[in-house]
Amino acid sequence: MCSHEESVQHTMYANRYHQIKKLGRGSFGTAFLVHDTKSKHEKKVLKEIYVGDTSPNESLDAEHEATILSRLRHPNIVRFYDSFIDGSNFCIVTEYCEDGDLDQYLKSLRKQRSRLQMDQVIDLFLQLLSAIDFLHSKKILHRDIKTSNIFLKRNHIKLGDFGISRLMMNTMDKASTFIGTPFYMSPETLRYDGYNMKSDIWSLGCVLYELSVCKRAFERSNLVQTMEAILRESPPPLPDRFPAKVQLLYLQMLSKDPDKRSGAAELLEEFGQIEIKPNPKSKLSSQSSTPNLDINPTHPDFRRSFSNSPIVNKHIRASLQVPSSPVHSASSMDSVDSFETAPSDDIQIPDEKYDPFSPSARESKTDFCRSKAQELVGSEHFTRIYDYLHDQRHKQSEDASCTDAIILSGLETLCSNSYACKLIDELVLFDTVNELNERTLNS
Ligand code: ADP
Ligand code: MG
Repeated sequence: MCSHEESVQHTMYANRYHQIKKLGRGSFGTAFLVHDTKSKHEKKVLKEIYVGDTSPNESLDAEHEATILSRLRHPNIVRFYDSFIDGSNFCIVTEYCEDGDLDQYLKSLRKQRSRLQMDQVIDLFLQLLSAIDFLHSKKILHRDIKTSNIFLKRNHIKLGDFGISRLMMNTMDKASTFIGTPFYMSPETLRYDGYNMKSDIWSLGCVLYELSVCKRAFERSNLVQTMEAILRESPPPLPDRFPAKVQLLYLQMLSKDPDKRSGAAELLEEFGQIEIKPNPKSKLSSQSSTPNLDINPTHPDFRRSFSNSPIVNKHIRASLQVPSSPVHSASSMDSVDSFETAPSDDIQIPDEKYDPFSPSARESKTDFCRSKAQELVGSEHFTRIYDYLHDQRHKQSEDASCTDAIILSGLETLCSNSYACKLIDELVLFDTVNELNERTLNS
């Protein structure tokens, strides 16, 4: 709760977590590596989320929520340990994943003109499915599945940042729907038609594509074209080397209609049945459209992890939650957490009740953005900024060279209050989604 000295900012949190270094800044705040002074060996991650005067949603009872989240155990889910208020920040303490995140890893593969083999993709994807199936069986939605929330740790992957949007319901930055990472957002989420389990499945489909090609499925030159691709375009096909069954499941996951997407349990079963035959290097190279392809991932942990991996069976067991066979003796993986046991079996959270992407959430969000921005810059200036942004966002749809950076630099000359600009842009983007959607319906 307090720092060592007033002059030293945030080196100790809650008289317990000692800051080691900054890991990075994300959409929710800043992540630090910390040493837990009450735990012998463990380094942990502390996320500092600025909430200002507001406190986490009281009706949700953030403390109770945190207790529930900390009881969830699954080998492919980042452990949630603790949460507390520290001054103007809400802090969340989680497990540390020392091998970095999948976004960084896939970017480095791409840079080396390399990519994962099919068996590696399926293996990783099964781990992810297992994590999501587990969360969904507890009626918990992730709501922010993306490669930078998927971590690597000791030969396996871990899904992080679930539940944060629930904890932060009333405190989340109200101008952060579209700006940030819209690449994994489903069409219904963009439209604020309600977030459900199938919206998580859409994001998983995006991750499957990225695992296969080291490129985002719906990334375009600017934000509006990215949104347009999500709302209107067919998903890009997986490489030919993937069997027809995988292609079909993948296309279903990225169906614009959430009802046509399979659930996590079904997907886990289907993917678990896919026969994985490691491709000989020459064959894969000749099939590949990428020149000079090095098919061996360079990360040593990855290489170790995928040799004759028994993960498939293990993850099917995980989905079925059969605790009787000790995981660590059934697998070659070292140091695997055990699955959660009895105490959390009763966890059933009616997550849909708190949908931050419902039509009513959209209404209160737009109301907030409009009134706050008008308060900050006055209604005349508000209109000028709105018109500029509306024009520019409209232009983006036709002109790929009209980048977000160009719009932002033009905005800086128009208004110095960047927060107000963000709020107004959010309003414009809501309208843009409406327009794109109408165009889709009419075409
Ligand atoms: P975002 O998910 O929007 O990228 P975060 O605040 O979650 O932002 O993370 C910021 C940075 O900290 C990222 O580079 C991420 O890889 C790193 N990070 C976050 N959580 C962990 C963790 N549990 N273990 C290791 N690194 C983490
Ligand atoms: Mg994150």
